Amino acid sequence: MLLKDKVALITGGAGINGLGYATASLMAQQGARVVVLDLERAAPAEAAQRIGTDHLGLVADVTDKRSCDAAVAAVLERLGRIDILVNNAGITQPVKTLEISGADYDRILDVSLRGTLYMTQAVLPAMRAQQAGSVICISSVSAQRGGGILGGPHYSAAKAGVLGLARAMAREFAPEGIRINCITPGLIGTDIIKGKLDETRKAEIAETIPLGRLGRAADVAGACVFLASDLSSYCTGITLDVNGGMLIH
Ligand code: NAD
Repeated sequence: MLLKDKVALITGGAGINGLGYATASLMAQQGARVVVLDLERAAPAEAAQRIGTDHLGLVADVTDKRSCDAAVAAVLERLGRIDILVNNAGITQPVKTLEISGADYDRILDVSLRGTLYMTQAVLPAMRAQQAGSVICISSVSAQRGGGILGGPHYSAAKAGVLGLARAMAREFAPEGIRINCITPGLIGTDIIKGKLDETRKAEIAETIPLGRLGRAADVAGACVFLASDLSSYCTGITLDVNGGMLIH
């Protein structure tokens, strides 16, 4: 058991086909008590129940600072500590530069970038008191290669912002035993791509990937467990590519 007795909070974790739910499930299998945080419409309490009776589901909106703080306070009251935060909540929009409105820009950046800042701010006091913690931020290959698959330029910007934010926070909090790392998934078959790419396009993309297939949610979950556990105890500020070789650099 790599995460025995750890408490892990996963944002955007309720979608049964999503990276967050796969991560929460794998962390639970590795001995963690997991907290699935998501919007009300995603039904996080039901998702947590599906994982097992020891786990907690909480409604929160990562773009709202008060909502983030209240969620973390609820976790601390119920479970007493937070060892792992996975900043996974994110949304995308397949549009081109000239089509991006101010409202689109705010919406896309707010969930991935502002949400990562607010949730990390919310857990840091508890991690600081413990002098330990692992924060994992889900960026995207889109940040590294400048999109070109699904999300618009504002999505690439949000996810590139996550890389910079995470690296700067990693530097700041390393002396207090808190590790902060990023994962850059390639194209993973979850609901975020549903209806946005047809089977022919998916097959064309798979042909360009050295490992010859799109990613699975479990591929990202495994990387999250590595970064959450002591197996990665000397890693902070890193970017872990989980993309089948789509971007070898
Ligand atoms: P998904 O749509 O299944 O999951 C996103 C989750 O975030 C949903 O459960 C949604 O309800 C939640 N969410 C949205 N707005 C929220 C908010 N304001 N507050 C709280 N929760 C909110 O998609 P996914 O593919 O599992 O994506 C997970 C993460 O991985 C996202 O950050 C995404 O950008 C990133 N990512 C996905 C891929 C891919 O190909 N699937 C590739 C690279 C990065």
